[in-house]
Amino acid sequence: MVDHRFKWDAHVCLPISVATDVSDLLAYLRAGVDFISLNIGMCMNPLSQIGPVIDHFTAAIAATPGLKLVGSVDDLEPGVTGVAFDLEGARPLQGRAEAVATFHAQGVRMMHLAYNRNNEVAGGCHDGPMGLTELGHDVVAEANRLGILLDLSHTGEASSFDIIAASTRPVVYSHANAAALHGHARNISNAQMRAVAATGGVVCPTGVGKFMGLDRAPTAQDMLPYIDHALATAGEEHVGLGSDMWFGQDGVDETPPPDPATGQDFDPHYWWPEAFDYDHSASAIGGGYLAPEEWDVLPGLLDDHLGPRIADKVLGHNMRRVAAEVW
Ligand SMILES: [Zn+2]
Repeated sequence: MVDHRFKWDAHVCLPISVATDVSDLLAYLRAGVDFISLNIGMCMNPLSQIGPVIDHFTAAIAATPGLKLVGSVDDLEPGVTGVAFDLEGARPLQGRAEAVATFHAQGVRMMHLAYNRNNEVAGGCHDGPMGLTELGHDVVAEANRLGILLDLSHTGEASSFDIIAASTRPVVYSHANAAALHGHARNISNAQMRAVAATGGVVCPTGVGKFMGLDRAPTAQDMLPYIDHALATAGEEHVGLGSDMWFGQDGVDETPPPDPATGQDFDPHYWWPEAFDYDHSASAIGGGYLAPEEWDVLPGLLDDHLGPRIADKVLGHNMRRVAAEVW
């Protein structure tokens, strides 16, 4: 292999379904990406849905040459795309901090405590102000103990600062852009970026067009202002990349079943409120994310823009450092 550049995508998504074809992830192998963190569920996905999806993803990844489920940075191999799981929100813990250990044993290496809306653990970014609860403190301690990276994407500001203060390990934003460049409630303040950097953690600008004011999929070039802003604000040791790429698959339905706690049917308008610029028309879903092929373009682009030393840090070395420290 000639001049391989180490690349880490901090967050990618497949349909949350046992019918999902994981071979879509081979696009990352073709683009020379060494590691991806793969979403296995959000706050709206009950445990009855997530458990079988984890089993399916685990078996399918094991059966796919070129992909490998990894539990530590030492498990990464040249010429193979390593995969670990991430959980977007604490509701699937069902109110039990002890459940974090079950997810860790199943390959989860990164988690959010809230997904857009408040829950019994922490506040979400599209809900009223709310700090970390007593249960939330227990969940942070358990994630720290086990070696799960805490991720503040989708989390409300007050809870973000509480998690930063409570965590004894570095924390990250695996997919979040600067509010200073585009005013969206999913984007984050300069103070949030600096606070994460102060933990030793990493801020990963994300390739979601909506959070950049674009109505199309961003290109690698579109990422540059967000990378520049994160570098200027958090510092060169504290910037990575998380595409948030979502692979839609024809005929694969990932609609969550009714919430077991409330009996309510899944309501996308609750989780992605129109008031925050979410479009629920079928034509608007998919197509708005930084594609895996852009990872082929990023090294040359970042070399020209930042120089190879800083480019390497952003492409993957910073996230690898934090993962090696926490996992
Ligand atoms: Zn997300």
